[in-house]
Amino acid sequence: MTARPEGVAIGTSGPHHGQAYGILTIDLDAIVDNWRDLRERCSPAACAAVVKADGYGCGIDPVTSALAKAGCTTFFVADFNEGRRVRRLVPDATIYVFNGLMPGAADNYAKDNLQPVLGSLVELGEWKAFCEATGWSGHAALHVDTGINRLGLRPEQAARLAEHDRFVPRRIDLLMSHFACADEPGHPLNAKQMAAFRDIRGMFPAIPGSLANSSGIFLGPDAHHDLVRPGVALYGANPTPGHLNLMRPVVRLEAGIVQVRDVPQGETVGYGATWTATRPVRLAVVGIGYADGFLRAAGASDQHPGATALVGGHPCPLAGRISMDLLAVDVTGLAHAPSRGDRVTLIGEQITVDTVASHAGTIGYEVLTSLGPRYHRVYRGG
Ligand SMILES: *Cc1c(COP(=O)(O)O)cnc(C)c1O
Repeated sequence: MTARPEGVAIGTSGPHHGQAYGILTIDLDAIVDNWRDLRERCSPAACAAVVKADGYGCGIDPVTSALAKAGCTTFFVADFNEGRRVRRLVPDATIYVFNGLMPGAADNYAKDNLQPVLGSLVELGEWKAFCEATGWSGHAALHVDTGINRLGLRPEQAARLAEHDRFVPRRIDLLMSHFACADEPGHPLNAKQMAAFRDIRGMFPAIPGSLANSSGIFLGPDAHHDLVRPGVALYGANPTPGHLNLMRPVVRLEAGIVQVRDVPQGETVGYGATWTATRPVRLAVVGIGYADGFLRAAGASDQHPGATALVGGHPCPLAGRISMDLLAVDVTGLAHAPSRGDRVTLIGEQITVDTVASHAGTIGYEVLTSLGPRYHRVYRGG
């Protein structure tokens, strides 16, 4: 990162500007603001940051560093390698690994002082055996399932542990569970999971608890416990779908026009010939595609409109299927036709990650975590 005269730190990664069609700008200050906002909503609970999947596609290194600088001391990652990467950046932070202990790998976790989120009795047994054999005194989290049926001990297994196990109260420093439907506040499973987690915490009264992801935070104080674990909301996606997004947008995706071409009425555009020019049209052919993570399902056909691009500030529809490395934008209506080399905006303040996701029939998470490696990346602030 280098300091600019105006005081805004700018860092870059990926191919050089001018050598990439796609330019991805990540606003680290917005990520930090989102984290602070969520932390305030949950106070007195503490606020961690989930930086798995390369910081939801935004870059695990710059995101982790920016949040650590802002005062975040607890990070969650999905696997061991992500944990090791975060450890290099934040030597003193607490780092939990969601997917738990890989078979036979306990010593690796210990070497980097990573805390596995133990998700089954087998993992708990393996970790306990490792700690007893080596004298390793690091802590771990224990995941208890309350209804998503993904990872975690069943409640009855936790109850049996609570009766006889002495390792858990001494060496587990976080009791964790995960919502299945937190983005649907009215879903009955939310109340069930909150009640189940309350009961389980009652069995281990001395161990701090963590239940809420981004959307879970908005289910209210009963969901907060001691530590919240937001991911997607940090990166600007809406944690309260159907309601105003209270998060600041983080990602801007711009891409260069490879060529502008005219298509006569009646001809079709793109693979499968699924989009027909119903009048003479002018297209801007843009140099990114689904290989860059701009999801193919967001393309347009005669039956379904696709995503929208901003060209010179004006919204223009996509035309035809999205190719691997290219997509076409219908710029017919524009008073000022764009030229080769101009940039269009595909994600930005007016075109949110969630909007692109809805055009692709998916969720903001997938749009973010698909952001590809060919972009020139610009990091602001942090
Ligand atoms: C990914 C993940 C989170 C973060 O979820 P968001 O919905 O992105 O906030 C929290 N907890 C667990 C167990 C996760 O896997």
